[in-house]
Amino acid sequence: MNSSIYAGPVFEMAKQQFVHVADHLQIPEMDRDRLLYPKRAIAVSCPIHRDDGRTEVFQGYRVQHHLTLGPTKGGTRFAPSVDIGEVAALAVWMSWKCALAGLPYGGAKGGITVDPYALSPRELEALSRRYMQEMIPFVGPHTDVMAPDMGTNEQVMAWFMDTYSMYQGQTVNEIVTGKPVSAGGTLGRREATGRGVAYLVGRVLEILGIRADGATAIVQGFGNVGAIAAYALAERGLKIIGVSDHTAAYFDPGGLDLAALHSHTSEHGHLAGFSSQSLIAPSELLVQKCDVLIPAAIEQVITGRNAGQLKCRILAEGANGPTTPEADAILHTRGDEIFVLPDILCNSGGVIVSYFEWVQDLQRLFWEQAEVFDRLYRILERSFQQTITRAKRDRISNRMAATAIGIDVVQGAKRTRGLFP
Ligand code: GLU
Repeated sequence: MNSSIYAGPVFEMAKQQFVHVADHLQIPEMDRDRLLYPKRAIAVSCPIHRDDGRTEVFQGYRVQHHLTLGPTKGGTRFAPSVDIGEVAALAVWMSWKCALAGLPYGGAKGGITVDPYALSPRELEALSRRYMQEMIPFVGPHTDVMAPDMGTNEQVMAWFMDTYSMYQGQTVNEIVTGKPVSAGGTLGRREATGRGVAYLVGRVLEILGIRADGATAIVQGFGNVGAIAAYALAERGLKIIGVSDHTAAYFDPGGLDLAALHSHTSEHGHLAGFSSQSLIAPSELLVQKCDVLIPAAIEQVITGRNAGQLKCRILAEGANGPTTPEADAILHTRGDEIFVLPDILCNSGGVIVSYFEWVQDLQRLFWEQAEVFDRLYRILERSFQQTITRAKRDRISNRMAATAIGIDVVQGAKRTRGLFP
């Protein structure tokens, strides 16, 4: 297939990773396009009234990667960087992630090219609702189930659910996940990604024989994933020595005051202005010495330029696609120096608990928080064991192992179902 619509560096990266794993798995050339290219890609124009009286049109997308295992599943990103290539890459990664976790989903992703922080609350609501309205012909509880991602949150999910429900004439909780508990969400979803990251980091510390108490961590991105991972690691005894978001970066080898960071971000919505003493250049933060480095923001931050300089023992990828293939090659040459928890494993707690939310909504039967986390950790443990066992067996990187497991699952299902007609 010669598809040029999925252009850009992020889709290129997802493609390169796929080809690398497909070569390793010896997937025949003729089967590759069917596995890699998205089944559907939808582009919509979303007009809204701005507060100043103008009408403005925003570009929205949704990409559904494959429908082989069940409905598609994935978040919705509101960010200025959003384009069809980025959304498609994120959808592909969701597929391998869901398959690795054993969830009955294909991958999807959506987004709007917008800076959500430049909109008023009313404008944000109007845009969220119009986007969902435009998506009605293409989504459904058994077709494609949305969730939050960068720039969206529980409130946006509540608006999505409400808009869809208004058109159906009944409440359809199961159309999106990551909703507030008061709107049919599950206990634990908000914390799921960050706590999953902390669980897996805890397991790797055990394996490497590093005491959690007093170990150090640096977190890039202080949103839903990074901040919760930082709190959860601090609960396990780790010292958070660096944090950053898109406004500022702070580093203090003596440890940062997480409670103070929490109250600052709750009040201001970002890190800038927190302290002048521990300020550091954002690019410097990633190469400071620490036990655990957690990129939990955007793609392609660990690159060929800085991968050789990382001074962490564990790279725990809370973000999707933070490490480029060039960086991966460099990390590979560094051998056992850095233990990589690849994104599709490391941040899979979010979609795993989204799956629990969808199941609870469909059954109208809600679980206690302890059950949510117990089941989450059981799935993470299984995926973790499968990944490290396969990496060891085939002498490949953890990323290659995790992706290979995901691709195997999707390919196996396609083979069993056959090719229609
Ligand atoms: N956006 C999250 C991710 O990248 C969660 C997706 C979901 O819960 O469906 O994994």
